Amino acid sequence: MGGGCISRVASGTVIAMARHIHITGANRGIGLAIAQRFVAAGDTVSTLYIGDPPPDGIDGIEGDVRDAAQVDGAFGVFEERHGPIEILVANAGITRDGLLMRMTDEDFEAVIDINLVGAFRCVRRVAKTMIRQKAGCIILIGSVVGLMGNPGQINYSSSKAALVGMARSITRELGGRGITANVIAPGFIDTAMTQALPEDVQQRYRDSIPAQRFGEADEVAGAAFFLASDDARYISGAVIPVDGGLGLGH
Ligand code: NDP
Repeated sequence: MGGGCISRVASGTVIAMARHIHITGANRGIGLAIAQRFVAAGDTVSTLYIGDPPPDGIDGIEGDVRDAAQVDGAFGVFEERHGPIEILVANAGITRDGLLMRMTDEDFEAVIDINLVGAFRCVRRVAKTMIRQKAGCIILIGSVVGLMGNPGQINYSSSKAALVGMARSITRELGGRGITANVIAPGFIDTAMTQALPEDVQQRYRDSIPAQRFGEADEVAGAAFFLASDDARYISGAVIPVDGGLGLGH
């Protein structure tokens, strides 16, 4: 059996064992929903967070994806505690919206540094372990706007589009080592990130979604859980939309 996403097989029988999943930003929002899905299945979840600590049952260390030393240090501690990280969900992300002509270098770079370079720092660290294990599953949380674009989000959509290139390059570089890399592209999901938008903007977005509603964080968690399952071991370099039809075909 190939590597990729993980279950254990002995004498033809699939034996469920706790997996070690690292999710950045699992203290709230989509990251927390993904964490809860894995915890409910008996897996071990670790997380790097910068704000409030995660709830009980998720092992957290305060750290910033902008700092490679903090990422490397925390991941090392987590691996000592729980064994090799087998699944990475690069979820931490921010927005700094603004129209092109008014967007500052700082707002552009801040979003790229967390959403794109932050994911890269985590991927680079776990790749070391995954190559040694000859198995691993990398899930990057992109966005529907990475492929559709969105006015006022040139920084954010650029960062999310780049994750597609990242997953596909990882697939080409490490696919032969039993490692898969995919992007989940959520549409508008009901979290603090979308609740921060003015009500009229939220309504406009809702009207443009074929499903006529925002998604739930748990619906993104379902896609992550599938990608981390043995059923997805031959899926790599894919972009999985969880967007109520908003992206239509991307
Ligand atoms: P939230 O704003 O609710 O959560 C963002 C998470 O990222 C928080 O846990 C936050 O930690 C963490 N984070 C931010 N900066 C850093 C950092 N420098 N180092 C470590 N952690 C950090 O957002 P969502 O849950 O909505 O979004 C999660 C992901 O899903 C993001 O990548 C987002 O772009 C993406 N997404 C969201 C959509 C939506 O509609 N909500 C749609 C499409 C994609 P802290 O609590 O400490 O600030």
